[in-house]
Amino acid sequence: MLGPNRFAPRLHDVSLAELSEAGIRGLIIDLDNTLLGFRETELAAEHLAWIAEAHDRGFLMCLVSNNFEPRARTIAARLKIGCVPNALKPLPFGFMRALKHLGLPRSQVAVVGDQLFTDVLGAKLCGNLYTILTEPIETHDFAITRMFRFLERIVLPGRRR
Ligand SMILES: [Mg+2]
Repeated sequence: MLGPNRFAPRLHDVSLAELSEAGIRGLIIDLDNTLLGFRETELAAEHLAWIAEAHDRGFLMCLVSNNFEPRARTIAARLKIGCVPNALKPLPFGFMRALKHLGLPRSQVAVVGDQLFTDVLGAKLCGNLYTILTEPIETHDFAITRMFRFLERIVLPGRRR
């Protein structure tokens, strides 16, 4: 139930060619520590290039973030992708809003995020969406996130490869 379908060190390590070949046409992307470091405001060149490639390949994209509205919306607008802020992951409602925004069936959507108990669990609760778990960009974050990471190490001891 809890394991992700795949692991990737960083978002830009996720192969868009492979996802495309697998029939994936939409991407739901976590913001903090997946696309952008928790305390960062500037996107890494690798991630800008990855998003640009995804646009070129025709992927539809939507951010789904537990973070507040202005931060998530500013970044989504800059990248010209959809945005669901204040998503309350792992509750599935934010993912459902993102699916509606993408207008794609569940079988054609992959979720990329750095947290097992928000991104992966939420994606599973939203009808078993395909999931890719990344390593967090930064290790300093909210106390609640640190607690989740502690639990992740217990549930997924083989995560760091
Ligand atoms: Mg995150």
